[in-house]
Amino acid sequence: MSGKTILILGGGVGGIVTANALREYLNSEHRIVIVDKRAEHVFTPSLLWLMVGWRQPKQITKDLRRLLRPGIEVVKAEVQAIDPERAIVQASGEKLAYDYLVLALGADLAPSTMPGYVEAAHNFFDLEGAARLWPALQRFEGGRVAVVVSAMPFKCPAAPYEAAMLIEDALRRRGIRNRCEVRVFTPEPQPMLVAGLDMGVSVAGMMASKNIGYYPNLPLDHIDAAEKTLVFQNGKQESFDFLAAVPPHRPPPVIKESPLANKAGWVTVNKHTLQTHFENVYAIGDVTAITLANGLPLPKAGTFAHAEGETVAARIAAEVSGNTPQTKYDGVGYCWIEAGGGSAGFASGNFYAEPNPAVGKPHSGRLWHWGKIMFETYWMGEGFRRSAARSGLNLGSKIFGIPSSL
Ligand SMILES: Cc1cc2nc3c(=O)[nH]c(=O)nc-3n(C[C@H](O)[C@H](O)[C@H](O)COP(=O)(O)OP(=O)(O)OC[C@H]3O[C@@H](n4cnc5c(N)ncnc54)[C@H](O)[C@@H]3O)c2cc1C
Repeated sequence: MSGKTILILGGGVGGIVTANALREYLNSEHRIVIVDKRAEHVFTPSLLWLMVGWRQPKQITKDLRRLLRPGIEVVKAEVQAIDPERAIVQASGEKLAYDYLVLALGADLAPSTMPGYVEAAHNFFDLEGAARLWPALQRFEGGRVAVVVSAMPFKCPAAPYEAAMLIEDALRRRGIRNRCEVRVFTPEPQPMLVAGLDMGVSVAGMMASKNIGYYPNLPLDHIDAAEKTLVFQNGKQESFDFLAAVPPHRPPPVIKESPLANKAGWVTVNKHTLQTHFENVYAIGDVTAITLANGLPLPKAGTFAHAEGETVAARIAAEVSGNTPQTKYDGVGYCWIEAGGGSAGFASGNFYAEPNPAVGKPHSGRLWHWGKIMFETYWMGEGFRRSAARSGLNLGSKIFGIPSSL
């Protein structure tokens, strides 16, 4: 068995987990190389806390190398072209050859593709935007607050609802809640559609209990920044004084331009093995398109990127060692829903269940908020790279003893 090179494109959630697990499985004869255009990793679930002043940017940002096990090579470069036929990747002008390739490039945020977004909206989906939202919210004197989903698909199905509840909480703490109207507008027919009706009813109920207006089935056409107005595709218009918006997402251009992309620009994979239609090429996380038994897409979320990364690492390690890969991704995932006031919901389930995903009703309370803090500590702490390979999968379920398979 000669030394192999495993090239991982993207050092986000999926890429980090894959690299750490592979380094644990394979000896140093084999190279594990991770390529990312950014040197720092942002723990995205905490963007929601940054946005309301509970975190500072440096608390949720970490040098990528410090999240990786020793013996993993890090290349800071922009991936510019992928040629799976010749097993070569071009990154910042360099050619990188591989034996196995893992695509973990995530989903790009494309705020400028929604007219008016850049001028009018707070983008809490990136570090800078979330950091800017908090001082703006502190200056806000009251009026109409809108939280808007610009377009589908978007990552973290719970995020807009969490954002609305956290902003509502912040306004209450400031004593100006009675001067504000808080509303959520989304093209989705219900919150977190793929997780089922019970989940939608629970999340809508959480918002209703805080007097947050919920307006589903409203695809956005554009934002009139000068008039501070949301203009929806059905002609409806709603004014706002403060706007927090999920930006449009799109496939990374380098994927879209590669032979790996499907018609929409994402990467279709086998949902259990994460293999693409090219030999020795896998894709995980937000960059993938996985269709569930009910025809809906598997959501884009870190929980799936994490578990898929572990699956792919185990499969590649088996192949490299001359064994038949047995590990398959079972579709189990989990989710926290921050509700403000130090409280959160938590739900887990099997998204590959047929005919529909089997996701339990969310548990809620202060314990779950603390669970998310523990998860943040685990992910950002040194312990993560030691334990990631085998214990990361469904950690949330493990912490609380909730069965991960329902
Ligand atoms: C506000 C917010 C809250 C969230 N909360 C949760 C949560 O509570 N639970 C949950 O499960 N998920 C959550 N998510 C979603 C989660 O962050 C993503 O689903 C997850 O990061 C996807 O992992 P990934 O590895 O597929 O992609 P990413 O983590 O996005 O990593 C992709 C990496 O690829 C790099 N990259 C992209 N293009 C190139 C290129 N051309 N060259 C080089 N590098 C490139 C990027 O720099 C990035 O580091 C949240 C997201 C947001 C925005």
